[in-house]
Amino acid sequence: MSESMPPTDGFGRRIDYLRISVTERCDLRCAYCYPRLCTDSSPQDVLSAEEVVAIGAGGVRLGLRRIRLTGGEPLLRPDLEGMISRLRALPGLQDLSLTTNGQKLAGRAASLASAGLMRVNVSLDSLDPEVYAAITSGGEVGAVRRGLDAALAAGLSPVKVNVVVSSPAGLARAGVGALVDLVEREPIHVRFIEAMPTCSQAGYLPGEGVLDFLRHRYELARALGPEGGGPAEYYRLNGSRGTVGLITPISQPFCDRCNRLRVSARGELRPCLFSKNALDVLPAVRSGDPVGEVSSVLRQGIAAKPRRYGEIAEPSGIPAMHVIGG
Ligand code: SAM
Repeated sequence: MSESMPPTDGFGRRIDYLRISVTERCDLRCAYCYPRLCTDSSPQDVLSAEEVVAIGAGGVRLGLRRIRLTGGEPLLRPDLEGMISRLRALPGLQDLSLTTNGQKLAGRAASLASAGLMRVNVSLDSLDPEVYAAITSGGEVGAVRRGLDAALAAGLSPVKVNVVVSSPAGLARAGVGALVDLVEREPIHVRFIEAMPTCSQAGYLPGEGVLDFLRHRYELARALGPEGGGPAEYYRLNGSRGTVGLITPISQPFCDRCNRLRVSARGELRPCLFSKNALDVLPAVRSGDPVGEVSSVLRQGIAAKPRRYGEIAEPSGIPAMHVIGG
């Protein structure tokens, strides 16, 4: 197999996407993501900037084409722009993106874009200041709105918003009308995501329920997703600049299209989100040939991917998402 082509796994899926968590730390405490009961303290960042870049380089050497930096909250790392510029310089990398809670995005969007970041996903479960503060344990929704404006102004594209929905009440609390206004006015893509079961939280609102809710209130037309693809189904509202999307990992799993590997901020490689056992990337990344050795551990991770998550676990009890890197 040529090193420059994206590798395929044992089920013929092309694996071209690597998510690297750069920290477990977060400045928010969303119950479904960073539950106090599951994890009460996070280690200091394990991976140095150098090591994050080596993991990315190992992935690109293997033929992966897309890298997302996530966490925890990646913007807590002051050295993020440095990682981004070095990753962006990797020959063969086609897509470099970031997931953030947006609290600190307004002040960093321009520097992230000039470092080479291409696009951004921003988590924003409600535009209502009180609801948002309650969900996040103290987050400021105005900061996220300013962050979205700054991301658009800096030319990051597409800009996507992630809304996690765990119940009908949660959907009502999200204030869908305000989120839809955002999509109508701006080229922003709002995706409603079924809450995944982490250690302290169970239950989700199936995407179909979200779709019913939207259909009763808006005219929806199936639409092509924004650049960057992914597992979402997208809809445009009459004349809207952006789209709304549904991501349904539980009610309609998309394992047959899975194209990704995840490395946590502790250097654990997860072949599948639900993998019980992770491969340790740290010895490789701290070896004399980090890029070559990481590449070979990633290859083992690809070989260990299950056909479906149901083959390795019921969809329950995954570690908290801030640990895995969502
Ligand atoms: N701190 C950043 C943020 O807030 O976007 C990046 C890390 S966060 C783990 C990445 C994404 O995972 C967020 O969009 C978050 O909403 C999502 N997420 C966290 N826990 C989840 C869960 N239990 N089910 C579905 N999505 C979840």
